Amino acid sequence: MAVITVKDKEFTTLLTNDQIAEQIDRIAEAINTDYKDKNPLFLPVLNGSFMFASELFKRLTINTEISFIKLASYKGSSQGKVNSIIGLSETIYNRDIIVLEDIIDSGNTMSVLLEELESHFPSSIRLAALLYKPDAFKKDFKIDYTCFDIPDKFVIGFGLDYDGLGRNLTDVYSINSQL
Ligand code: 5GP
Ligand code: MG
Repeated sequence: MAVITVKDKEFTTLLTNDQIAEQIDRIAEAINTDYKDKNPLFLPVLNGSFMFASELFKRLTINTEISFIKLASYKGSSQGKVNSIIGLSETIYNRDIIVLEDIIDSGNTMSVLLEELESHFPSSIRLAALLYKPDAFKKDFKIDYTCFDIPDKFVIGFGLDYDGLGRNLTDVYSINSQL
């Protein structure tokens, strides 16, 4: 267990790189089986999922493609924030889609994204998440492949940031006191 300081906060090791690798092995194997004769299109959500996407993708033995997307929020409707997807250049119509997310917290971001993707009529959509916080989750969509259920505390590392920092850490760390 290591204690580190990033900017003005202390964090402690939650998941080691070996533990993470083991879980990515497990879900890669499941995906290789489930999509054996298919050609799924992976859509990792930037920025946080770049490292998860890279590690998972290296373990795939099926025919597969990848295209990174990013969510942009802007003030549009009277309700305030509207999200749009940047980078959805590949056609997802009739494709088997696997969305990759670093972390599912409340689930708000992902439910907006899933709704938008569904409007393009893919033949299927599944979701893979490195981390999932069951105690914070407020939605009802299914997470098909999860590496870890974690406590409802702020985490960094393995692609996840605190104010832009910490994405390069190879372990995942959780904050010592809540933000
Ligand atoms: P949600 O909409 O599910 O509440 O969370 C959406 C986004 O918030 C995630 O994709 C992620 O970018 C960010 N997020 C949620 N929890 C954490 C966390 O513990 N650490 C970091 N670094 N980002 C988080
Ligand atoms: Mg994210």
